[in-house]
Amino acid sequence: MHRDPDCVFCKIVAAELQASVVYEDDSVLAFLDIGPLAEGHLLLVPREHHERLTELPVRTASAVASALPQISRALLQVTKADGFNLLMNQGRVSGQIVPHLHFHLIPRKAGDNLGYRWNVGKYPPGRETQITAAFQVALSHHKGE
Ligand code: AMP
Ligand code: ZN
Repeated sequence: MHRDPDCVFCKIVAAELQASVVYEDDSVLAFLDIGPLAEGHLLLVPREHHERLTELPVRTASAVASALPQISRALLQVTKADGFNLLMNQGRVSGQIVPHLHFHLIPRKAGDNLGYRWNVGKYPPGRETQITAAFQVALSHHKGE
């Protein structure tokens, strides 16, 4: 199991640091975010230390994905939220602070004023076709990884 001795989430996984753990299995852990955007804001982490989603082994990614529906259902039940945001930040540019992959589950209620607006762009003529082709080439080399 990959572990980083300086990683705050590895310490939570190892129970060396207190956290309000709401779910755990062999591969993942979910606990309350210490700085909640809303009551019940959860973090879902793989037990293994990986900084990035892009380096996650498929079996670990599967474990994270498998846990998501039941944790999401509990989130809605406990917080009585109308919906939630599932958010993962990769890289400092995106806002990642803790370098142990984690998914935020942020409960949302009508009128919560949390906001969540992106500046929506528009493709110039031809660019959408180009970028789609680039993805198809990139992904044809990564089948099964
Ligand atoms: P990110 O910007 O995606 O890296 O978010 C890191 C999140 O981890 C923030 O929302 C923090 O509030 C949360 N966090 C940091 N340390 C702890 C901790 N010891 N226990 C629970 N949540 C934490
Ligand atoms: Zn870690």
